[in-house]
Amino acid sequence: MNHVPTQSPECSGPQSQPHAGAQPAEDLVLSERMQRIGRRLFVLSGKGGVGKSTVAVNLAVALARRGRRVGLLDVDVHGPSIPTLLGLTGRRMLGRGETLLPLEAMAGLKVVSLGLLTDSPSDAVVWRGPRKNSAIRQLLRDVDWGDLDELVVDCPPGTGDEPLGVVQLSGRPGLAVVVTTPQEVAVADVRRCLTFCRLLDLPIAGIVENMSGMVCPHCGQTFALFGEGGGERLAREAGVPLLGRIPLDPAIGKGGDAGLPSASQEGDSPTHTAFKVVLDALLSVPASA
Ligand code: ADP
Repeated sequence: MNHVPTQSPECSGPQSQPHAGAQPAEDLVLSERMQRIGRRLFVLSGKGGVGKSTVAVNLAVALARRGRRVGLLDVDVHGPSIPTLLGLTGRRMLGRGETLLPLEAMAGLKVVSLGLLTDSPSDAVVWRGPRKNSAIRQLLRDVDWGDLDELVVDCPPGTGDEPLGVVQLSGRPGLAVVVTTPQEVAVADVRRCLTFCRLLDLPIAGIVENMSGMVCPHCGQTFALFGEGGGERLAREAGVPLLGRIPLDPAIGKGGDAGLPSASQEGDSPTHTAFKVVLDALLSVPASA
């Protein structure tokens, strides 16, 4: 079948493209799969490196720990980081007939990433726009998610073709969670991201300000390394909620490298509390949004 293939660095796209005549049947499969999903949570950011994947992973893990049936879809074509953040590096998704099976990272959490289809984490995936969209479409259509309460989608950064494709293809109901850092430069990117959501008519659950204050590894106190309040200002200005602020915590970096997200562990550190605040805020958004 035409699963998103194992890539070689010189590969310029999926091994074969669906022919035009097959499109309606494929659309039907896609729409049937999407109908079994309760709500899509699109985790977006104006640019890379602000902690979008970290937020996506922690939200997905925390939701699964609260007993929900969760899917986590990593559609970052160029730098899929979800396998690393969840300790799944080296594992691969399996196929069954025409279908791809997600990996179960923990009870209630199914994970799909292009990084779980390539031979090695360092495989470069060199795709251009239409190929990327075709790959995203295949991931949505060919993966048997089963019934899910939430599908958390770690979108590629920015407001280009890929986030556009994944939001449009995966359908409704959907909610955007926009991740930023406190600096003005990141905040400017987020403004574009909010405009993108509005153009797509995608309801915005709110903004998460990540790396908001540094937790000192010695005394546990928090201080503002990158300035303060950028996310809050932006949220106020844009008329959307601030879902919460996640501190810059060395434990998040270490946990990410070790495949152990904060939300997978018990704790009452400022970081644990911050993720809980974000999750509670998100869950309070009406399901119909
Ligand atoms: P993005 O998806 O926006 O590119 P990532 O989630 O991959 O960003 O995060 C980039 C790096 O920053 C990762 O190494 C991650 O562990 C680290 N990181 C993210 N958020 C925090 C935080 N709040 N504190 C410390 N490190 C963080």
